[in-house]
Amino acid sequence: MKKSLFEHALTMFARDHIELFIGQWEAQKSYPRSLHQRAAQNRILNLGHDDLDTMFNDVERAALLVATVTKYGSQGLAMGLGSHLVSLSALHQHNKGRFNEVIKDVLAGDKFISLAITEPQAGSDVGAIETVAQLQGETEQFLISGHKRYICGGMRADYFITLAKYKTHSDHEYSFGLFLVEAVIGQVERQIIPCLGWHCLDVSSVTFNQVPATLIADKHASLDTLRGMLKRERINLAVMANAESAELIQHSVKYSKSRQIHGQPLYKKQSILHRLAEMKTRDTVSRSYTKQCIQALRQETLSDAETCIAKNVAVSSLAYISTQAVQILGARGCEIGSVAERSFRDSKILALGGGTTEVMNNIIGKAVLQND
Ligand SMILES: Cc1cc2nc3c(=O)[nH]c(=O)nc-3n(C[C@H](O)[C@H](O)[C@H](O)COP(=O)(O)OP(=O)(O)OC[C@H]3O[C@@H](n4cnc5c(N)ncnc54)[C@H](O)[C@@H]3O)c2cc1C
Repeated sequence: MKKSLFEHALTMFARDHIELFIGQWEAQKSYPRSLHQRAAQNRILNLGHDDLDTMFNDVERAALLVATVTKYGSQGLAMGLGSHLVSLSALHQHNKGRFNEVIKDVLAGDKFISLAITEPQAGSDVGAIETVAQLQGETEQFLISGHKRYICGGMRADYFITLAKYKTHSDHEYSFGLFLVEAVIGQVERQIIPCLGWHCLDVSSVTFNQVPATLIADKHASLDTLRGMLKRERINLAVMANAESAELIQHSVKYSKSRQIHGQPLYKKQSILHRLAEMKTRDTVSRSYTKQCIQALRQETLSDAETCIAKNVAVSSLAYISTQAVQILGARGCEIGSVAERSFRDSKILALGGGTTEVMNNIIGKAVLQND
């Protein structure tokens, strides 16, 4: 599908199937699973590409998907509908024909996949992960046990990609491997975790009880594969923050033009005008850097530190913009269900999910010391 056709299909899909319903889904704290199938029918989930290499390389379209779903929907929905490519990229990278069915089913919207790394005692400190995969006899099949927490889409996932400790018959010590886990009924327990934001998305705890698992990437490749996935994830989150910022600026400008204070539009007050100027300035700079990083990601030249800078700048820019938007909109910005109110809550999550601001700074800091 040509780029212009994809853009059109995506916008029409978002207008027809998301925009009218997002308020209801956020209030109900759930969106219909059938939305994935509908998105697939409109060739949204595969970004309009039939060839998998082309699809995974097209990070511009992946960013457009995240931005459009954020704009017409919400951050939570963008995570639900736009993050499958992060997980599938690992399967594609190590496929050798083993994961064709999974990739096909997820892109068809029939199955849902989640990335499950975090554990109760292992968030920023990934090295503290305790989930264990035990090799079964002489086979290549593992049984995985452990507890994961704060997993997006965890209630509905048919598959999980997870990091676990394992050893082969010749290993003396445990190492980390990346595993594909099929959510076998009765062996995976899940519980929703009510959360500050991303309300339409099921963020949950997931317990694996001896669940069959396939090794995707072994001890030599698992952490590099995870780094590659996190790069995509963090750029998605930066795109999400930029898309939300643009919406908030638009709402704030509209209100400050229509709202009359002392017989004049609100924007005539210099403090309001300067706020709008500062919001626009931060968003413009962040958006430009995110765009640069998307191009570098496509060219495979994007460093971890640049990715972290893009995420931190976009997230702090949104934090500022969402705070100012609520202030400019006054009480309207506090009404539950308004874009400003939702963004004010959701924006905080972006500073934690996908790696916290401090963890991003640790990566940036290391690069500064190495390069300068
Ligand atoms: C809504 C939501 C959705 C999520 N979705 C997923 C998901 O789908 N899959 C998944 O695997 N995880 C998910 N997470 C988990 C997320 O990745 C973790 O919350 C994040 O990695 C931080 O871990 P933690 O919450 O355990 O905080 P902690 O690691 O306990 O950190 C607490 C605080 O200490 C700071 N800190 C930690 N280490 C350092 C350090 N070395 N230097 C300085 N400061 C430090 C942190 O920055 C943070 O401010 C989600 C989280 C949320 C809130």
